[in-house]
Amino acid sequence: MPAYDDANIFARILRGEIPCTKVYEDEVCLAFMDIMPQVEGHVLVIAKSPSRTLLDADPAALSALMPRVQRIGRAAVAALKADGLTLMQFSEATAGQTVFHLHFHLLPRREGVPMRPHEGPTAKPEVLGALAERIRAELP
Ligand code: 5GP
Repeated sequence: MPAYDDANIFARILRGEIPCTKVYEDEVCLAFMDIMPQVEGHVLVIAKSPSRTLLDADPAALSALMPRVQRIGRAAVAALKADGLTLMQFSEATAGQTVFHLHFHLLPRREGVPMRPHEGPTAKPEVLGALAERIRAELP
């Protein structure tokens, strides 16, 4: 497998070089709105510790990350009044990964609303900002 390369776009977001619509941040993770949402309320949770995929992640970092994924997932489901949550993680391009920094996709799902394709149209910043605020309001 290729080595981690910190020129990727999520590493640049972590360094503050590129803006994001933030939902939550602590010492373990950063959560922000996906710029090309596949459903309303599509959130990305990215690890702060550098790894390219799930496959090369430090198990200790993963065990700290997963409770955050659950907490932010619960908040997204509550904020969107969703019926469920799709959790996606792609490791390597063959599996669909396009940004090579470990991240989880949280997609609040509603009955009868299909998921749009990966890498669809870009959402308006004000729409993402309003959704992030609603999700933040549901975080304990
Ligand atoms: P992957 O295919 O690597 O699992 O997912 C990468 C995700 O990052 C995609 O859903 C894509 O829409 C999102 N994305 C790519 N570039 C940016 C960006 O600059 N900002 C944000 N917020 N999301 C991004």
